[in-house]
Amino acid sequence: MGLTANSVGKNACGGSFTLEKNDGEKVIALAGNPNVGKSTVFNELTGMKQHTGNWTGKTVQNAQGHCSCGNNSYLMVDIPGTYSLLAHSAEEEVARDFICFGGTDAVIVVCDASCLERNLNLVLQTIEITGNTLVCVNLLDEAKKKKISVDIEKLSEKLGVPVCGTSARSGAGIPEMMELLPKVISNGSRIAPPVIYPREIENAIGIIQPIIEKKLSGKLSSRWTAIRLLDNDKKLNSGISKYVGFDIEADEEISAAVSKAAGYLSENNISHAELKDIIVNSIVHKAEKTAAECVSFDKKDYYERDRRIDRILTHKIWGVPIMAAMLLVIFWITIEGANYPSELLFSALFSLGEKLSGFLCECNAPEWLNSMLIDGIYRVLAWVTAVMLPPMAIFFPLFTILEDVGYLPRVAFNLDRYFKRSNACGKQALTMMMGFGCNAAGVTGCRIIDSPRERLIAILTNSFVPCNGRFPTLIAIITMFFTVGASGFGKSFLSVLILTGVIILGVILTFLMSKLLSSTILKGVPSSFALELPPYRMPQIGKVIVRSIFDRTIFVLGRAAAVAAPAGLLIWLLGNIHFAGGSLLTVCADLLDPFAEFIGLDGVILLAFILGFPANEIVVPIMLMMYLSTGKIVEYESLDSLRNILTDNGWSITTAICTIIFMLCHFPCSTTCMTIKKETGSIKWTVTAFILPFLTGIILCALTANIMRIFT
Ligand code: GDP
Repeated sequence: MGLTANSVGKNACGGSFTLEKNDGEKVIALAGNPNVGKSTVFNELTGMKQHTGNWTGKTVQNAQGHCSCGNNSYLMVDIPGTYSLLAHSAEEEVARDFICFGGTDAVIVVCDASCLERNLNLVLQTIEITGNTLVCVNLLDEAKKKKISVDIEKLSEKLGVPVCGTSARSGAGIPEMMELLPKVISNGSRIAPPVIYPREIENAIGIIQPIIEKKLSGKLSSRWTAIRLLDNDKKLNSGISKYVGFDIEADEEISAAVSKAAGYLSENNISHAELKDIIVNSIVHKAEKTAAECVSFDKKDYYERDRRIDRILTHKIWGVPIMAAMLLVIFWITIEGANYPSELLFSALFSLGEKLSGFLCECNAPEWLNSMLIDGIYRVLAWVTAVMLPPMAIFFPLFTILEDVGYLPRVAFNLDRYFKRSNACGKQALTMMMGFGCNAAGVTGCRIIDSPRERLIAILTNSFVPCNGRFPTLIAIITMFFTVGASGFGKSFLSVLILTGVIILGVILTFLMSKLLSSTILKGVPSSFALELPPYRMPQIGKVIVRSIFDRTIFVLGRAAAVAAPAGLLIWLLGNIHFAGGSLLTVCADLLDPFAEFIGLDGVILLAFILGFPANEIVVPIMLMMYLSTGKIVEYESLDSLRNILTDNGWSITTAICTIIFMLCHFPCSTTCMTIKKETGSIKWTVTAFILPFLTGIILCALTANIMRIFT
């Protein structure tokens, strides 16, 4: 058998998810608890590179990709991880709605072989919705190491649906799983109910089921729909009505049956709340029983090693300092490692620019065209590449290794009490870490937070973490201004200390702003949540490097370049159109100057931030362009010569500090703003997310500048 695959763009945020289905393709949903390997299975099948990582909650939106097996072609849809389809968090709703109403032909429920019991809850709930379910018991290699074995055949017999065992990381068992799919698709409604409830509830179901059976015309399982009608969840009822094409609550026959069943339950002393409890308990009980029959353990204490490591890494006193030390080491490797390649890239790209310019001259290209293409577009691109590529190519893989090992949820655990004190949610730490890569991704990632209030707090404060557009620029400014006189190890160590300080300032501001929001416009008490600490796993170093360099770094750089090229052109135009005795750029900068001076910047810096709204990475190139009266980005060999340009234009240590603070706290970029609008659906919250860091930055800069003026 051969598996072939090709990929289509992943994506589709939030509710509106359009299937990119080709003719004849069957739609297969990949469901499962978080962190069981769904995305790994998805990538293995589709050849795509959906983000995988050792922590719960990283997949918050559906992703889709094509694959084929023999003569059958499939559209695979990776849905967010969820523990249950009964509760009501955003991810659970996305998962449940897709399984129920997404037009799936089958559902593959991916499970973790080493904690099958918990995973079976979801399996049983899925089978209740659709008999077209295939159970994939993944992570068999890890289970084997822990001396846990799963009797696959027996499990299939107990559940009444096909089951297969896989180790998705190595691809083992995946082709066999795909061979089972045609059988699963034709399995349909012929299977027995996976969970039998107490007699009274079964009788109540029996009152409703025959009435709705004929009305649903096979679109949904009548048993599942009957249970949901008893449960009476208005939102789900309206989803069902939309899907089946008639108002299920307004149908007289159905309403009469539901009232009769509800009356029967109350006659038997089963209240609505008790009904819910009995349903959940019956499923849990069946999961426990099935797991006990099909799983055997040779060694009970297989988590001892993880617990020992956790005692150190999540220690009440040492947890946070260890985390700060790890951050320090990562920054040190990033800064030290990025210096040399950055300078090499600078000189290579700028000399290539000279050659391109010479070539255009030889082709008799007009002077203005040469200047526009090379000085305008090319040099901005070259700057962005030389400054951003090396630190990103080092930082991303290191960060991804921490993620793969399973350290990120430990960071969330360590920071939980501080978030609680700010009346926010500990999971916000995870969304902050996503913000390190990209604030727009961090904002989308806030879907892992169930409480709408806490989710809003996390969204509004996400930009206090510098994204990769700001991070390399921070490194460049710190290296230029704060390590003068130092050399070698001392120089990079000082940069690292300052950079760590800046990041810690961002974290502290996040706490303060969360506290401020939760005691003013977003009042409330912190909700409790269970943060899952996944097992520590050996990172796949090779894959991590390839994935972070080719997927993340090149992707981010490509996006930056896509913004930087037209921005370079715009800046070139503004710098070369003269008006009232100066270029448009200088006229605007002069207008902003008085206010900018007050907050420790100058008109040029403030204008650069405003023009850099599309992407933070172009802020410094814009500044440079404006400082140079020639209207083009200067060539320079090292960060020292860049510092000279800035100091010649009046930069002092105060300017550098205020620019760093403003880089950390200013309005989010346009992509992040659009994402916030999409996620909150509200202009009001988008404007708040814009103003909050901006105002904080202005206040902090004004305070810093004016205090420093007193002392200097
Ligand atoms: P998802 O949250 O269910 O999509 O899980 P991911 O696909 O992101 O995988 C979670 C973690 O488990 C990642 O670190 C994967 O590399 C790892 N993983 C996935 N499948 C396997 C497997 O079969 N064996 C081992 N050892 N690790 C796996």
